[in-house]
Amino acid sequence: MPAIPILDGHNDTLTRVFVDDGGGIEAFLGDSKVGHLDLTRARRGGLAAGFFALFIRSKDSTPDSETDRDPSGGWTSTPPAIAHDWAAAETTRLLDCLDDLLDAAPEDLLLCRNLDDVQTAITGKPMGIILHLEGCEMISPDLRELDMLISRGVRSLGPVWSRPNCFGTGIRFGWPSSNDIGPGLTEAGKSLVHACNERHVLIDLSHLNYRGFLDVAEISTAPLVATHCGCHALAESARNLTDAQLRIIADSGGLVGCNFFTGDLRGDGKFDSDMPLTRMVEHIDHLVATMGIEHVALGSDFDGADMCEEMRDVSCLPNLLTMLEERGWTGESLQQLCHGNWIRVLDATWS
Ligand SMILES: [Zn+2]
Repeated sequence: MPAIPILDGHNDTLTRVFVDDGGGIEAFLGDSKVGHLDLTRARRGGLAAGFFALFIRSKDSTPDSETDRDPSGGWTSTPPAIAHDWAAAETTRLLDCLDDLLDAAPEDLLLCRNLDDVQTAITGKPMGIILHLEGCEMISPDLRELDMLISRGVRSLGPVWSRPNCFGTGIRFGWPSSNDIGPGLTEAGKSLVHACNERHVLIDLSHLNYRGFLDVAEISTAPLVATHCGCHALAESARNLTDAQLRIIADSGGLVGCNFFTGDLRGDGKFDSDMPLTRMVEHIDHLVATMGIEHVALGSDFDGADMCEEMRDVSCLPNLLTMLEERGWTGESLQQLCHGNWIRVLDATWS
């Protein structure tokens, strides 16, 4: 089993632990066996650092989305917009929870505010937490909350989740589906991209629709990044990126974190975790063939999506590395995939 530290592009563990009755701090710092990720299983799996999302669920019991199915087997799922005040209050609550978590384990966890912190996590004991906003409903159109969020540790944001908001239109879920649905970034969305560039905050293209993607590609001066996406050529999920989009990302010097979500990896649009791990490798292979190894990384979506049995939680990450090694991946290529490409892109983005 190759022992290579992994920097992973996306998880929803903070939401699971602090919103979805996931046991809070004690469960995260222990070996909870609940969900996909806690500290014990992260260490077992070689997870050295990861993008931890602040994802705000719909208020009360409102479902995050409603699914429409058509007789031919296709489906779409459109999450409703959420209110700024709700998102802002929940974000503050989650940030306070995160502070409590960091205070409870100062030796074991490190909030990564710069590349040195990430390097410390990659080479040392603390697990690195890179704080990410998955959808920016907590930010007003005039961006007044942005600097406060950065001061509290946010180093990455996706302007939208799969919802519309004041910055743009998130791509609704769907299969089979193009992602060319709806308008691009609003003026506030374009201002957000400029503001992130000025403040050296990473902008995540995951969940943006096609026109929003093109707007970021045109405006942003940083390498383009999709933290957790699959390949549309292999699975026609609206959330996956076309080969043309992959080439735009590669040309910018950026990267794509390969998503582990079975629904986006399978080719049939089914929500079925009965999928061999080789299917994930097929997406990684396609990313490499289309973009080059230096633009491919991992973006699991642990605690935010269904995984296959061979990747049932973070402790199974070595299964993927072993499979890649058996298929001829060299140590150098694995290192690029596991953290090297992320380090390069974060260095270019954050400094
Ligand atoms: Zn996501």
